[in-house]
Amino acid sequence: MSDSYLSLRKLVKSYDGRVNAVDGISLDIARGEFVTFLGPSGSGKTTTLMMVAGFEKPTSGHILLNGKDIAPVPPFDRNIGMVFQNYALFPHMTAEENIAFPLRMRKLSKEETGRRVRDALALVNLSSFGHKYPREMSGGQQQRVALARAIVFDPDVLLLDEPLGALDKNLREQMQMEIKRIHREVGITMIYVTHDQSEAMTMSDRVAVFNNGLIEQVAPPLEIYARPASRFVGAFIGDNIFFEGSVSAAGRFEAQGLGPIDIPAGADTSGNRVLLVRPEAIQLIGDGARPADNTFSLAVRGVVHYGDSVLILGEANGVPIRLRPSSILGSQVKEGDTCRIGWNRNDVHLVPA
Ligand code: ADP
Ligand code: MG
Repeated sequence: MSDSYLSLRKLVKSYDGRVNAVDGISLDIARGEFVTFLGPSGSGKTTTLMMVAGFEKPTSGHILLNGKDIAPVPPFDRNIGMVFQNYALFPHMTAEENIAFPLRMRKLSKEETGRRVRDALALVNLSSFGHKYPREMSGGQQQRVALARAIVFDPDVLLLDEPLGALDKNLREQMQMEIKRIHREVGITMIYVTHDQSEAMTMSDRVAVFNNGLIEQVAPPLEIYARPASRFVGAFIGDNIFFEGSVSAAGRFEAQGLGPIDIPAGADTSGNRVLLVRPEAIQLIGDGARPADNTFSLAVRGVVHYGDSVLILGEANGVPIRLRPSSILGSQVKEGDTCRIGWNRNDVHLVPA
C-alpha cells in the first residue's frame, strides 16, 4: 500500500521459543485510519499491540512508522498513546494531574501544559472534573481521563486494548460513539483491540480478524460480513449456517441433504468450499410472494419471539436451518408447522472450507 503510515512486516513473537503467539503478521495502516484487531482471546492481538508500543520485542519482523524502523526506539520515545481495559490512572493524582503527566515527562512549559490539559478535558467532556481523583469518578469517567492522558501529547498513533471491556453495555455503546467522535475530531491513527464483533463492526474503517497469531482477513466491516475470506471469519462474525458439499455443475453447489443450490454468478469455486448462508437473509415465503432462487420446505421445530423479530428453528430434509424474519411475518408461524423458506442466489457465500 503506497499510503502506509504504520507498517507491520512479517511480525513474529514467541515468548517461549517454541510456540508463536504472533505467527507472521503483515499489515499496512494509513494515516488517520481506524483499524480494529478483532479475534478470540489468545489470538495474539495484545502481543501485536505491545510490539507496536515497544513493550515487547519482536522475535522477527519489522515495524515501520512513517517509513522508519522503530525497533531501536524505546517505548517512551515512540510517541504512541495507549489505553488499557483497566484504566491504569495514578490513584493519588487528580484527573488534571493524570493528564498532565505525559506533558511533564516531555518537559512542556506550565502554560502549554495547562492549555493542553484543558483542551483534552474538554475533548472528553470532563471540563468540570479536573480536580477529581479517580476514586471519585465512575468507570466511564475514569476511562475518559485515560483517553485524554493518551492523546494529550499529540501521539502519532493511539493504541486501545479492550478499553471498554470493564463497562456495562449502555456505557460501552456511549463510549464507542465518544471514541469515534474523538477519532473524527482529532484525526489520529488508531488501533482498537476487541473481541466484541459488534464493536468492531460499528467503529472501524477496517477490521483485521485475528486467529491463532495470524490475520485471516483485513477489510472494511461490511466486506468482512458479506465476503468472509475463510470459514473462521464467516463463523466468528455474524450469525451463520454452513452447508457442507461441493461445487457441482456450473453455478451450482450440491449441499449434503439439501440438494443443488444456486450460487452467485462468477463465484470463486476453487479448492474445497462450504456454503455460508446468514439466517437474516433467509426469507419466509408467504402466499403470493415472489419466490426466492432457492426454496425449501421447512419443518418448524421451535419459535422464539424477540418482539421486533422472531427466530424460527427447523429442518429442511433433515438439515437444521434457522431464520430471523420480522415479527410481522414470523409471528404466525408455530412449532409443528411446515412453511416455505428461501434465499436468493446472491445471498450465499462460497467460503474456503
Ligand atoms: P489476545 O490479546 O488476542 O487475547 P495475547 O496476545 O494476549 O492474545 O496472547 C497470545 C498468546 O500469547 C496466548 O497464548 C497467551 O497465552 C500468550 N502470551 C501472552 N502474553 C504472554 C507473556 N507475557 N508470556 C508468555 N505468554 C504470553
Ligand atoms: Mg488481549
